Amino acid sequence: MTMSKFSLGVLSTVMLAISPALFAQVDAVIYGGTVLTVPGKSPLKEQTLILEDGKISAIHNGYRTLAQLKLTDVPVIDLKDSYVMPGLIDMHVHLTFERDPTANPHVWLTQYDADFALASVPYLEKTLNAGFTTVRDLGGSYKVIFPLKRAVNNQTIVGPRIFAAGDFISATGGHGDLHGYRHDVTELVTGGLGICDGADDCRRAVREVIKSGADVIKITATGGVLSNTAAGVKQQFTDQELEAIVSTAHNLGRKVTAHAHGTDGINAAIRAGVDSIEHGSYLDKESIRLFNKHQTYLVPTLLAGATVSEEALTNPNMPAAIVAKVKQVAPVMEQAFRTALKNNVNIAFGTDSGVSQHGQNAKEFALMVKYGMSPKDAIVSATLSAATLLGMQQQLGSLEVGKFADIIALKGDPEQDISELSRVSFVMKNAVIYKNEK
Ligand SMILES: [Zn+2]
Repeated sequence: MTMSKFSLGVLSTVMLAISPALFAQVDAVIYGGTVLTVPGKSPLKEQTLILEDGKISAIHNGYRTLAQLKLTDVPVIDLKDSYVMPGLIDMHVHLTFERDPTANPHVWLTQYDADFALASVPYLEKTLNAGFTTVRDLGGSYKVIFPLKRAVNNQTIVGPRIFAAGDFISATGGHGDLHGYRHDVTELVTGGLGICDGADDCRRAVREVIKSGADVIKITATGGVLSNTAAGVKQQFTDQELEAIVSTAHNLGRKVTAHAHGTDGINAAIRAGVDSIEHGSYLDKESIRLFNKHQTYLVPTLLAGATVSEEALTNPNMPAAIVAKVKQVAPVMEQAFRTALKNNVNIAFGTDSGVSQHGQNAKEFALMVKYGMSPKDAIVSATLSAATLLGMQQQLGSLEVGKFADIIALKGDPEQDISELSRVSFVMKNAVIYKNEK
């Protein structure tokens, strides 16, 4: 043991001493006309970025030639006419489905896991093409989402970097359980691995979901709009269950995010120590105090509210129990966002895509700006803030030395016109180019 460690140490020192350049794997050099290296700060003009082993290894002022950089045979990417910025991060997507009011409503009972996986392949591609190089998938069968994530990592299919929750942690009959069928049918097709009741059972469920591959834990702390049950949107886990879930997840190194609409459920989840709240529709003064005290993040998902509101008006087949909740919840989401913004709550960008169409994620930016957020802050929410909530702030969220080469480019300045983010012309993830439109 001691010997081999010693020899390895000597060997690597010698190799580095001979020539560090010999081992450098320079992937590419990028010339960026305007480069937003650190969101929240001012962009820089005429920058040269060096990419090495999938990461950013250097950033220079001005355009440096390959000769000046002492490089040969390295691809040069010319983005001199573009606005270059870090890849976008969506903290709330469901890559394994997309709502289609005209589709067979019983897909959960008629399709195999492979059907869902195959249908998801284009959703992943659309998401990456839209400039979202990283996503947090908040709920989808572990039998589908983790194989998709592996296929992306193996470069078998094209998609964003995925951090996934897998099965929801939900109470029996809760928002994450299956509704709308005979009880004996739901017995056969359950809500998944994460259905639990009582603190001990919820500890088991969290361990089970992590065992299946979860990067993050998603709990349904309150009722939800799109579950076909007239159960409202109030608290669905007891305080004891919430505490058991959060402590178990944190001890196993996983963050917890809570789907929560009703005030009681939002506040109980924050008190129990969740890292973020999804939706937060009925947040009140006490919620704001708790958000700020615990530095909890809000993921507003304004696009989901806008999408289901529109569907409630146009889809005659939407179940009555769902229509009632849409009419009740969607209008208050805007006010919740404005209140959070005014009170400096940490906000991370999230769309709930899958409720809306995949690849349309950037529409959330327009809603955030419409409801009072500055374009600069909206961009921070989808880069540095999202990276921090993922626990990946050392690797993602800005263009700095040592971070992953997840880079996008636009033809216009998104701080002048936020809709520029809907027209991403260049997408790179891990120094691999996936889109490059002239
Ligand atoms: Zn969701």
